[in-house]
Amino acid sequence: SELATIPGNPPNLLRLPTGCPFRPRCQYATDECARHEPPLQAFSQGRLRACFRTAEELA
Ligand code: SF4
Repeated sequence: SELATIPGNPPNLLRLPTGCPFRPRCQYATDECARHEPPLQAFSQGRLRACFRTAEELA
């Protein structure tokens, strides 16, 4: 299937925003996303993910 994308462009790697680098373009961003970068977590089949909202869903 086609890969879902989010609007906008990737951030300038020399000027990353504080917190999660996806925050300026993420419709699910919270205050925590602005303060901290989400840690990488094991997902499945050797894959990793980093998102505070996903961690909430797993709790
Ligand atoms: S941590 Fe998840 S919810 Fe928060 S800005 Fe990044 S991608 Fe969006």
